[in-house]
Amino acid sequence: MVETACVSVTPPQPNFAPGPVLLLGAPGVGKGTQAKELMALWKVPQISTGDLLRSNVARKTELGIFAKTLMDQGKLVPDALVENMVAERLREPDTARGYILDGFPRTILQAAWLDRHLADASSVVAISIKVGYHQLLRRITGRRNCPVCQRIYNIYSHPPLVDGICDVDGARLAQRADDSESVFAERMRTYDAQTAPVLEHYRALGRFEEIDGEQPVEAVTQCVMAALARLRK
Ligand code: AMP
Repeated sequence: MVETACVSVTPPQPNFAPGPVLLLGAPGVGKGTQAKELMALWKVPQISTGDLLRSNVARKTELGIFAKTLMDQGKLVPDALVENMVAERLREPDTARGYILDGFPRTILQAAWLDRHLADASSVVAISIKVGYHQLLRRITGRRNCPVCQRIYNIYSHPPLVDGICDVDGARLAQRADDSESVFAERMRTYDAQTAPVLEHYRALGRFEEIDGEQPVEAVTQCVMAALARLRK
């Protein structure tokens, strides 16, 4: 068992239905990593608006072609386009016991839309993961991903066994176009200006917890589960 400030709280059991959970935080705090851990534990989907948009980019849909320019510059895609995408995904039956929204809402208007869109908006809880700026920079610029199995590496903290090659399937690792240092700086400016107020929205509603994302991955997962247990009490 990992030593963490959160072990004293009994985490929810695997059959626990988590309901709608928002994972908030700056780029690189580990939202995607944590969402995948929770998805495996609770068998509810991770809904990542960044992944949905990247899938549109890869398929060269009209949305993808439009969004790519903004994404490559570290800017947000217009609210209405992302909201439509989320609305469509939430209609899937696998969301019935809950889901983990990763990277949405990212603006106050998206948060207001979610409040209006959901039949039971008061069931939404928000967990924000916090990591310092320099650590984020290292995580983002060091991040590499396998285009085949989607496994994520970091050249500084979690390198593959062979430089540039996925340990699992031997594919050549890729770097996201927006993971460069200059685009990271713009993404952080966007986060501070547009997404930070979203945290205050959920804090004011009393459905918010913030956790330390600089701990090892398993410790952060325990803290997320403990936070959720408190929020669902
Ligand atoms: P992410 O993978 O979450 O870091 O998202 C990558 C990029 O997709 C962001 O920098 C934005 O350009 C876009 N994006 C993802 N989620 C949203 C959102 N909720 N609203 C607007 N743009 C988004």
